[in-house]
Amino acid sequence: MPTATTNETEAITEILEQEIMRERVQRLPARLLPPERRLRETTRFTKIVATIGPASEDRLGELIDAGLSVARLNFSHGTPDEHRRRMALIKAASAHRMTPIAVLADLPGPKMRTGMFPDGKIMLKEGDVVRVKPGQAVAEPGEVYVGVEDLLEAVEPGHRISLADGQVLLRANSKDSEAITATCERAGPVGNRKGVHLPDSDVSYELPTAEDRELIKLARELGVDMLGVSFVGHASELEEIRGLAPGIDLVSKIERQAALFNLDEILEATDGLMVARGDLGVELDIEHLPLVQKEILERSVLAGVYTITATEMLESMIEAGRPTRAEVTDVANAVLDGTDAVMLSAETAVGKHPVEAVSTMARIAQVAERSEIYAHRPSLESAPERGHFSRATAMAAVHVANEVDVDCIVCFTETGNTVRLLSRFRPDVEIVALSPRPDTVRKMAVLAHVRPLLFRREPSLEAMIDTAADLLVARRVLQTGDRVIFVAGVPVGFARSTNVLKLHRIGEDSRFT
Ligand code: PEP
Repeated sequence: MPTATTNETEAITEILEQEIMRERVQRLPARLLPPERRLRETTRFTKIVATIGPASEDRLGELIDAGLSVARLNFSHGTPDEHRRRMALIKAASAHRMTPIAVLADLPGPKMRTGMFPDGKIMLKEGDVVRVKPGQAVAEPGEVYVGVEDLLEAVEPGHRISLADGQVLLRANSKDSEAITATCERAGPVGNRKGVHLPDSDVSYELPTAEDRELIKLARELGVDMLGVSFVGHASELEEIRGLAPGIDLVSKIERQAALFNLDEILEATDGLMVARGDLGVELDIEHLPLVQKEILERSVLAGVYTITATEMLESMIEAGRPTRAEVTDVANAVLDGTDAVMLSAETAVGKHPVEAVSTMARIAQVAERSEIYAHRPSLESAPERGHFSRATAMAAVHVANEVDVDCIVCFTETGNTVRLLSRFRPDVEIVALSPRPDTVRKMAVLAHVRPLLFRREPSLEAMIDTAADLLVARRVLQTGDRVIFVAGVPVGFARSTNVLKLHRIGEDSRFT
């Protein structure tokens, strides 16, 4: 009997393994297999927010091609002139690619930070005892300054003092009129101006801060679409910021325990919400983060508030050309949890592979969205606001779309309100959102399932349908014979009057009479 050589044996083993793998894949439970849905290869529902920094400001066209929908300017870093330059580059790339891009300016808020160290940083070991003092001065050996005015009043013996964004943990032992004496329980380096958290202490803080107020003026000058409100804890803070930033969407960053306690009032007062896992993961015991994320996302969808899931999503791609398995799973899980958008921070601001980070995120989201698990997320039919015309029209459109197997839903909108309603029902197909208002078009770029496009106002609904059909065929979104549901409000041109739903085949007569 002929015997196989080592090479042949290896080759046969590989073929056998491939066959076994194919067989196993075929036996995967049905809910993991892609359902029969009319999705184009390029369709992606989840949006990508990327922070623009030195690594990405000259690659904006590539980022848009890779899947960017929202550009984030992190106002905690950079000068006003850098933000002005980046804004101009974003506008130019968006116009060149004919793709609406929303701009999110993220305010620093009352972030507590360490003071300075003579060598720029210190190394704390377990058991080290340090004196923690209020202020921003340069520390003597054995001291750490923390920029919190009422530190001595707020921190009591037994409270935790977390330094360097949670890397180092101190526990307060005692206090006197000058400092808190604390013991190091988790060792690590602490540098100048690193993030401090006092999860057990009732620290008073001001929001918006004086710096935030100045930066809101810059945001208005730049014409940004959304403001990230850091460390929000109460709806009243949002009301004050809304007064300073009329017409700009507020995205409340959930990163304090107070925000979790007051989530209902924040959801009432905000437009969007960010699961800011960086700071939240320090404020909470970190093992609670996955469940808190799920709860925040679920309650936001019910409240009609859009969501961005942020921080360390593809962290290893700051250096590496591909993500870790855990990161891939994290992005997919955020999509399955129902987030509208996933966010990149340092990965695109200063990382080595900004474009690959965006395209990787896009691919992960696309695969998750094609699963049965995504398609069968809980229904929103029990959500409040019954009797509301726009909501009823949106709900009916989504029902019909899923029932009749249409190619897309097309919604005419002035303010984006009906599109937000449609988006939260997460239909099986894309929602093409057409608006004559450039600000509305840009703001809708963050909404899951929504493809926003600028569209001119027409005098009648028939004319709107005809022009929309021509535009969408020209942009290769649709072709003759495709089935579409138009969602509109008559009389045309008025906000908040969505009351018409028309089933239509592209190419057919659009007349109502
Ligand atoms: C976060 O804390 O997760 C976050 C997004 O905020 P920042 O980038 O300000 O840390």
